[in-house]
Amino acid sequence: MPELPEVEALAEFLREHAVGHAVVGVDVTAFQALKTVDPPVTALAGLLVTCVARHGKFLDVDCDGLHFVTHLARGGWLRWRDDLTGAKPVRPGKGPLAVRVRLSPDEDGRAPGFELTEAGTQKRLAVYVVRDPEDVPGIAGLGPDPLAEGFTPDLLKTIVGGSRTQIKGLLRDQKVIAGIGNAYSDEVLHVAKMSPFKIAGTLTDGQVADLHDAIVSTLRDAVGRARGLAAKDLKSEKKSGLRVHGRTGEACEVCGDTIREVSFADSSLQYCPTCQTGGKPLADRRLSRLLK
Ligand SMILES: [Zn+2]
Repeated sequence: MPELPEVEALAEFLREHAVGHAVVGVDVTAFQALKTVDPPVTALAGLLVTCVARHGKFLDVDCDGLHFVTHLARGGWLRWRDDLTGAKPVRPGKGPLAVRVRLSPDEDGRAPGFELTEAGTQKRLAVYVVRDPEDVPGIAGLGPDPLAEGFTPDLLKTIVGGSRTQIKGLLRDQKVIAGIGNAYSDEVLHVAKMSPFKIAGTLTDGQVADLHDAIVSTLRDAVGRARGLAAKDLKSEKKSGLRVHGRTGEACEVCGDTIREVSFADSSLQYCPTCQTGGKPLADRRLSRLLK
């Protein structure tokens, strides 16, 4: 699932490659992905791509004042196509292709575009055509962006203050902080040497400062690695840059302990016991609840 760094890199990629082209057409094959009806997708045809932005994990392609916004969700991805000339027309309901955006040709006569695809059976990829990005409920409700200037240790202190939420859940909550998902919350907590189950409101000022540092440095590093990569290379870059997420059973690169996994909410999280939980493995609460 693309999170802040990957979406940021995709936005940058599209800024470089799509801005200046006009939209020729938008073909929707996964009808459930389209969440808006007014304005219709056909209204995008003929409009110039003027700007591309990121809001949390949402990608916002500004087409001369109309916004093509997407949330790639868990299984979604964006695929850039250098030339769609001669590409087969899209067929609804077949394969991972959800939406194809066709752009006007460049001087070489190549007509580029991009495609949104979604793997798996859980269809969560979402597309919105709106006059204002804030018309997308998920964007209107976003918390502060952790890479924005205003995201200071003091702001984070206000955010965690009094919260009875486990810090892992708080970091992933888009209404609290925008752009961090399951992977980067694991990474941030590993860098901060903090238990994912720690209650947010119990953090000391020093721990809030460490957590702030970990959030900003982890995301900045990931954005730096992803920057300039082609859309197709982002997924493997994300994976190779992760220290604990998705690395159950491997050795922690900091201390050598074995990275462990425990279930959390609708998925699982990974952590290093030595770095984060005083060497003690976390109890799998879901499992122990089932055994009672
Ligand atoms: Zn470790």
